Amino acid sequence: MSEELRRAELAESLREVRDRVDRACRAAGRQPEEVELLAVTKTFPASDAALLADLGMTEFAENREQEARGKVAEFVALRPETTARWHMVGQLQRNKARAVVRWADVVESVDSERLAEALARATANALDAGERQRPLDVLLQVSLDEAVGRGGCRPEDVPALADMIMRTSDLRLRGVMAVAPLGGEPDVAFATLSVISERLRRDHPEAVEVSAGMSGDLESAVAHGSTRVRVGTALLGGRRLTSP
Ligand SMILES: *Cc1c(COP(=O)(O)O)cnc(C)c1O
Repeated sequence: MSEELRRAELAESLREVRDRVDRACRAAGRQPEEVELLAVTKTFPASDAALLADLGMTEFAENREQEARGKVAEFVALRPETTARWHMVGQLQRNKARAVVRWADVVESVDSERLAEALARATANALDAGERQRPLDVLLQVSLDEAVGRGGCRPEDVPALADMIMRTSDLRLRGVMAVAPLGGEPDVAFATLSVISERLRRDHPEAVEVSAGMSGDLESAVAHGSTRVRVGTALLGGRRLTSP
């Protein structure tokens, strides 16, 4: 596909997704500015991120460290003057902490104290080495069902994990993230997440972000207070290989 065709296609889907977010906000009595749109570019090339940046997108997400590091570098080469923020939203092994803090502005999938410790150490080292300029923003990923393997801590583990992150100097606790359970009712999941977020904000008022909602369920997430929807398929199209 030519770049011009792809640009037109992305412009059209971006318009549709923004419309959906606007309508969902209106239905919930919220302002569209309260909900940030994150483009999940996993499995798609850096050139798509560059075109989305031309269309005004500034926030991008990836779910695999190895795929992301090359893509972010390529993006910077394609659009050296453009400011973009990159979010890691996938499950992360502790041994990838050093690599991820070289490209990620935000890690949304922090779900254990051991991972948080590894990220804090890696961020301190990267700051010392001049590989990054800012502390790392983090969200606590919460599991909203009992299914293991998709990442996320148990809701009851949130307070201790939040306290631990607050004790580090190089991680900034910004809020919570969750994926609605497969086959479950998104309204029930996102209502639960909203309660978890409210409790967290009681102790940590700056942890205001609620990263919730994807292509299939963003309306429900916005109705339940999401401040950041993570949209892949509805923006970029279907992925050939299913990504977790
Ligand atoms: C892939 C992915 C998304 C986007 O999913 P779509 O259904 O394609 O919009 C959002 N969040 C996470 C954590 C993902 O891995």
